[in-house]
Amino acid sequence: MNKKKCLKCGYVRHPDDDELSFVEPTKCPMCLASYELAEKELLEDEQLRKKLDREYEYERTKQKRELAAQLDSAVARDDILKKSRKNKILLGTASAIVFLIIISVWQDHNEKVNREEMQRQQVIAAEQARTQAEQARIKEEQKSAAFIEEYMRELKKKKDT
Ligand SMILES: [Zn+2]
Repeated sequence: MNKKKCLKCGYVRHPDDDELSFVEPTKCPMCLASYELAEKELLEDEQLRKKLDREYEYERTKQKRELAAQLDSAVARDDILKKSRKNKILLGTASAIVFLIIISVWQDHNEKVNREEMQRQQVIAAEQARTQAEQARIKEEQKSAAFIEEYMRELKKKKDT
């Protein structure tokens, strides 16, 4: 008993077909398609469909991967930009702080130098004052020595006469 169903037109072969039909048993009595060929074609179609599906899936996966990679690199670029902007701000702040520190240290140094210079001037002035006082004292001593000498000479003169 041959209960074959035609893959092309869907006709189910009836036992009478084998006896009454003029068509060979390997072909569908309705559409005359070869059962074997129809099966082969269907299989080929199926394989082709699977192959196309696989290729489609492969392409989609590839595109998804590429998109994800592009997104990743865009995010990474954005991160780098943000970081460099943040670094620039930090660098600017750090430069400003360093500048202020340098100014402050320089002012301190200047003040110290000025103070030392003033002290040095005071010391020099004091030394000069001491030297002048010493010179005045020496002059006074010389004067009184000369006076005593003169007095002694006068005394001797008086004694001689
Ligand atoms: Zn058929």
